[in-house]
Amino acid sequence: MSELPGIGVGRGVASGPVLRMADPLGEPATTPLDGPADSAKTAVHDALAAVADDLTKRGALAGGDAQAVLEAQALMAQDPTLIDDVHARIDGGTNPERAVHEAFAAFQEILAGMGGYMGERAADLGDVAQRIIAKLRGVPAPGVPESATPFILVARDLAPADTALLDLEKVLALVTSDGGPTSHTAILARAKGITAIVGVDGAADLADGDEVIVDAVAGTVTTDPSASQVDEAKARVAERAAALSAPVTPGALADGTAVPLLANLGSPADAAGAVELGAEGVGLFRTEFLFLDSPSAPTVESQKASYVALLQAFPGKKVVVRALDAGADKPLPFLTDKGEENPALGRRGLRALRHHEEILRDQLTALAEADAETEADLWVMAPMVADAEETAYFVGLARELGIRTAGVMAEIPSLALLADQVFAEADFVSIGTNDLTQYTLAADRLLGTVGSYQDPWHPAVLRLIAQLGSAGASVSKGVGICGEAAADPLLAVVLVGLGATTLSMTPAALADVRAELGKYTIDQAREMATAALAATTARSAKAAAAAVHVA
Ligand code: PEP
Ligand code: MG
Repeated sequence: MSELPGIGVGRGVASGPVLRMADPLGEPATTPLDGPADSAKTAVHDALAAVADDLTKRGALAGGDAQAVLEAQALMAQDPTLIDDVHARIDGGTNPERAVHEAFAAFQEILAGMGGYMGERAADLGDVAQRIIAKLRGVPAPGVPESATPFILVARDLAPADTALLDLEKVLALVTSDGGPTSHTAILARAKGITAIVGVDGAADLADGDEVIVDAVAGTVTTDPSASQVDEAKARVAERAAALSAPVTPGALADGTAVPLLANLGSPADAAGAVELGAEGVGLFRTEFLFLDSPSAPTVESQKASYVALLQAFPGKKVVVRALDAGADKPLPFLTDKGEENPALGRRGLRALRHHEEILRDQLTALAEADAETEADLWVMAPMVADAEETAYFVGLARELGIRTAGVMAEIPSLALLADQVFAEADFVSIGTNDLTQYTLAADRLLGTVGSYQDPWHPAVLRLIAQLGSAGASVSKGVGICGEAAADPLLAVVLVGLGATTLSMTPAALADVRAELGKYTIDQAREMATAALAATTARSAKAAAAAVHVA
């Protein structure tokens, strides 16, 4: 038995066998054919047959639409024109892997040129070629592995296209060697409610079939577990399933202290699902997601329609909308400066909006008009705000344009350090722990190599949050949390202990956080916060907070 540490996502635990996701294959070398052409052709023939057979079998297992797609791929692998082309290239002195690559690429180009249905099949052809080359090399085919039985998926990282293919009935948990808590994999795992551990150093040594326990709470992957450890993990899986199916109640601590649980949304279409999972309102509506593909700034009318749809889903409830956060990982063509070398440190968020004040004015106008026509309690906040002067600018403009409640996000450490000055201007502050962590630890939130720094449990981040919490409490103003940290149940308790008054998260995390909050009183939450603040590392802060409750 050994334990591999990583960064746990969510509250889940899972046990089962490992299946690895193979890394993408490099393009075959152009080295000339080495050996007789006939044996090369036989190797290709065997690889083609094995791939066709494999695809047909997987199709039969999958059934439905997937079967039709996989059978069509099996036919491609045996297409006589393609095989002739591969043979001709081998006869011309090309090595077999390269011959398959070139012949399939040529055919792919023809299909892509046809457009329509045939054009869409071009990508499938590329996938078949990768499988054949993998067979020739004797390595696993790239992509998410197929299995008839549930497994724990181990990968370097997942691309968005891989995650779209995940069968949630089969994938018990995800383990990745790259990535931090705000990496694409972690955000997706949280949104889909998949148990995950990211940034696991030893993940590369896990092999297909290894039995492991993935414990997202402890942030560990246990290899070669004992029977009693497996039994304990299974009992926890059952206990959690019961907690997740518990009735949806308002967020509260064990002593009744209310902690409203809100949703992070990127589209009005997600509102109904959030309400169903018990969201008591919206703590972060990311408006930039509505306009990622717009070449020009949206009109007041077009924006207003989206805001009305959102607000109508939450009558009488608080809805916090964020002004466009353009730049860095979310560039908007009409708002973002091109060619910045360090866009995360560039003119993003409020800086870009202030530079294009007409866009900010239109957005605030659209929001005020939508508010006037609906029953929700609209709050509006600005992203990427540095100090009280910028806060005063945004709040002043918002009020001038008819917004009743205006605040700012705490994402830059300077804002937290000046919390008392900021609260003199703002109606509320909402802490974006993703960016606050990125800027406090000077670690790009999208860069896997520094993923271990991107941990909101770090005492430096917690101390900034504590400063915001006490400044907010001293003037009785709201201190929300809307970064991924609020979705980590144990950290959520600590955040309340540090002074957070509301927690906003991806709706899939609401049930876990609700269940965890209910285990502690406000005094216990404060004790846990004090213990975490005194720690020297993220890991020890988490351990210290967890130990308070056990004691
Ligand atoms: C954050 O930075 O924590 C946040 C909530 O904003 P985003 O993730 O959209 O940058
Ligand atoms: Mg942010």
